[in-house]
Amino acid sequence: MKALIKDRPLRGGTYTDLPIPKVGENDLLVKVHAAAICGTDIHIYQWNEYASSRIKLPLLFGHEYAGEVVETGKNVTSFKKGDRVAAETHVPCGHCFQCTTGLQHICKDMRILGVHMDGAFSEYAVLPAVCAWKLDPAISYEVGSTLEPFGIGVHALSKTKPAGKKVIVFGCGPIGIYAQMVAKLSGAEFVVGVDVSKERCALAKQMGTDVVLNAKEVNVLDEVNRVTKGFGTDIVVELTGNKEVLNEASKTLRRGGDIVLVGLFSGPVEWDLVNNVIYKEANVYGVTGRIMWDTWWLAQGILLSGKIDIRPVITHYFDLKDFDKALQLAESATAGKIVFRI
Ligand SMILES: [Zn+2]
Ligand SMILES: [Zn+2]
Repeated sequence: MKALIKDRPLRGGTYTDLPIPKVGENDLLVKVHAAAICGTDIHIYQWNEYASSRIKLPLLFGHEYAGEVVETGKNVTSFKKGDRVAAETHVPCGHCFQCTTGLQHICKDMRILGVHMDGAFSEYAVLPAVCAWKLDPAISYEVGSTLEPFGIGVHALSKTKPAGKKVIVFGCGPIGIYAQMVAKLSGAEFVVGVDVSKERCALAKQMGTDVVLNAKEVNVLDEVNRVTKGFGTDIVVELTGNKEVLNEASKTLRRGGDIVLVGLFSGPVEWDLVNNVIYKEANVYGVTGRIMWDTWWLAQGILLSGKIDIRPVITHYFDLKDFDKALQLAESATAGKIVFRI
């Protein structure tokens, strides 16, 4: 099968032929139809510190995908050949405290597809059955491949009660835009999106965000003050993983508001806790991944309601062999979601 692998500790990737993988007794073999590029894949492509400290080579990378089951392992009873599935990328151990108390998504010994084990930038992929989501027939493989990041947006907003609230989301990459769409769908008074890329700002606007601020062009604090008439925001969602942005984001929050942290910071962060959290009695939530399977039900239900259409958030499609172009576009942080059709 054709596959995109990482086999050298250098920038780049290798498009190559691999044998179709053998399906383990608890796994599914999936014919991949669509696979989306995630920030993690960019790290792997660049071979930065994040990637080199975690990954053993060679690795078949890529983890956000959807496809059709072509074979099932001998212990698998809940899936059959022909099922359409999307992948939950966090593989839980099944035994730890979290796994046995409904918190598999923060499993103590979690492994991640396409990071700790082979992924899905390939014609076929092995998916542990425990991580397979049966995709509703009304959802295409392309959109199915983006349910995983869409789920992060859904999970982030589920920590709060956005109805009637002033919501601000820092970051207009795909997850940021998903979060903005979910906030708006949930009845927010208005939603503000912030980014530094004019393409991403334009996409947020196109997807219905009420106020889009390009932080390169305007003073975000001044604009938030203007838009909220000095009230501040009720809910902040932080997706950039940039500590300056975190401090600025916190300043927009009203006293007693909610701040949801999703973006990953590199290293420890200096944060003015006294003024931004303690004196404000701010509620701070950390969010990672998606609750299995609560978030998936919500995410799919939102799409099936027909009230929002996330298809336009996918701005580019590529063939796997054009991976250099696709990953370079992804790292430019100017596009929406980028999907390989396989
Ligand atoms: Zn991902
Ligand atoms: Zn576990």
